[in-house]
Amino acid sequence: MATAGTIQDLIEKVKAYDPKAETDMLQLAYDFANNAHAGQLRKSGEPYIFHPLATAHILADMRIDPAIVIAALLHDVPEDTDISLDEIKKNFGSEISLMVKGITKLGKLKYRGVERYIENLRKMFVAMAEDIRVMIIKFADRIHNLTTLEALPSPKRYRIALESIEIYAPIANRLGMDEFKGKLEDLSFQHVYPKEYQKTKQIYEEKLRGELNVAKHILEVTEKELKSSGIHIIDFRGRNKRIYSYYQKLLRKGDPDKIYDLVALRVIVPTIADCYATLGLIHKLWKPLKGRIKDFIAQPKPNGYQSLHTTVFTDTGGIVEFQIRTPEMQQESEFGAAAHWHYDEWGSRRPNKEIKWVQELAEIQRDILNKLSDLEEIKVDFLQNRIFIFTPKGDVIDLPEGATPVDFAYHIHTDVGDKCNGAIVNEQMISLDTPLKNGDVIEIITDKNRKGPSRDWLKFVKTHTAKMHIRNYLKDQKGITDWFKTVVTRKK
Ligand code: MN
Repeated sequence: MATAGTIQDLIEKVKAYDPKAETDMLQLAYDFANNAHAGQLRKSGEPYIFHPLATAHILADMRIDPAIVIAALLHDVPEDTDISLDEIKKNFGSEISLMVKGITKLGKLKYRGVERYIENLRKMFVAMAEDIRVMIIKFADRIHNLTTLEALPSPKRYRIALESIEIYAPIANRLGMDEFKGKLEDLSFQHVYPKEYQKTKQIYEEKLRGELNVAKHILEVTEKELKSSGIHIIDFRGRNKRIYSYYQKLLRKGDPDKIYDLVALRVIVPTIADCYATLGLIHKLWKPLKGRIKDFIAQPKPNGYQSLHTTVFTDTGGIVEFQIRTPEMQQESEFGAAAHWHYDEWGSRRPNKEIKWVQELAEIQRDILNKLSDLEEIKVDFLQNRIFIFTPKGDVIDLPEGATPVDFAYHIHTDVGDKCNGAIVNEQMISLDTPLKNGDVIEIITDKNRKGPSRDWLKFVKTHTAKMHIRNYLKDQKGITDWFKTVVTRKK
């Protein structure tokens, strides 16, 4: 990890992607934070100001909105010094102070064990629902802390890294912020799984050497073909898979030779039509592998990811994956929910968009987060890998891995769940406890005479929604029975 630059470097960096940025505000925020933290030291022995400055640099390296960079410089001031939020508001205005307030509310980790874990999640969900920008700063803050873990005792190091992999990275993933997710995971990997890290690194580096050469040749041939066909190429380069996500794939596939996207060739073209034209030309050049053509443009991933993927046999007997997308899709894939606050390499930003699931998270946590069993369910619902299920009409529903027809039924409507009596998946009758697979087409058969859900369903449903509805139904039933008993007893 390179040492962070100075405030002058930071100002230059920000000016490079946003010439209209208020750079004197950056200088002011730095001076303000520097004064406030004067005399404080980090565990590493460095002056405290190194930390907010490094956090701001991480964001500027990622070309994040200057206002967020300013807030990052100030992010630890109210928490760690005598300076109040009011003073920040007076000096920097309400927008900056709101972000700093959000970070301060997230606070330092105060609880041990399970309670701390729940408390962290709860706070994070609330902060996220209120202002995504707070999470952007929080991720950068965590990334810098991960790069300075060496200064901490080993159990603490492990705990922070584990938390980053288990909570922060999945949240970044759900928000579509792949850059943050990747950095959080790669920096934590060696601290959480040291042996696995060493082993993976060895395989990774060895494989990479071979594949980079193949990829380079394929890129040159393809580029020539695209150009002569009149397709305008905005960018075309090889991208390595990140080491932690390579490790995850190794665990799934069990064999490095079955991983085809360690190096992928990423081509960026102006329009969606160009994407499909490019795919056609690539297939004309190289023979595609069966079942490896993925159209995430027509069917985006739940976190918004869009791209065309195809894996082809090369003339040298190798296998290479292509990823084809527009500049908008590229920015979306790296920054997702944060795309609006990010300047892409070509100087533009995306419109701000509503993210519904953040709101959903906030509502759910408000209702039930104080119980551990529920927390586990929320983790499953929102943070695990998702599968796509199709209705007979072609609507896409995303559910957690392992979800069953009953989960699907409750996702459609409470009544469909309560009256659910059977399921037809890909034109075959299946039992209600069968786990669904990615791409399944499902039709639920309801029986309007059915009294309600079965208690046994609780043993296999995966989503929080399904569990909640089944439990509520059973509770109501019990309530009615109890009430009936008292009425009968009184009559006697
Ligand atoms: Mn901090």
